[in-house]
Amino acid sequence: MSMTFSIIKPDATKRNLTGAINKMIEDNNLIIVAQKRIKLTKEKAEGFYSIHKDKPFFKELIHYMISGPIIVQVLKGDNAVENYRKIMGATNPENADNGTIRKEFAINIQENSVHGSDSEENARIEIDYFFEKNEIIS
Ligand code: UDP
Ligand code: MG
Repeated sequence: MSMTFSIIKPDATKRNLTGAINKMIEDNNLIIVAQKRIKLTKEKAEGFYSIHKDKPFFKELIHYMISGPIIVQVLKGDNAVENYRKIMGATNPENADNGTIRKEFAINIQENSVHGSDSEENARIEIDYFFEKNEIIS
């Protein structure tokens, strides 16, 4: 069993899709071992996405990520990082496979409903960025 970090993004919380997305997570054998609803500050969002700070879409991405509440989560299961990336689908929903969260719910390449860590190492960093050890109950 391993862990990954997930965000249900503002476009999804605004459309009241937290439960629908959590159902897809749980139906695919991932356990939600930590979860909270928060609103990002600009500084916190910029820190989280600092790897993208030189990309042309960075400013708009930050604006979007602070536009409404988000749900931050820790997910646990077999190959959690890889499994969740598969359940999420491609970054651009036009390229996402049928049955994935982004195919089902994403609006466009920016408002794509969910985030998931892309490596074990980033999962650890991202979990630590939002959660204390004692908030993760597995
Ligand atoms: N994004 C965007 N425009 C792009 C590429 C990405 O607005 O051309 C946003 C989108 O919300 C995406 C996030 O930036 O989820 C992070 O991009 P990344 O390439 O890491 O995609 P992900 O890992 O989320 O699939
Ligand atoms: Mg990414």
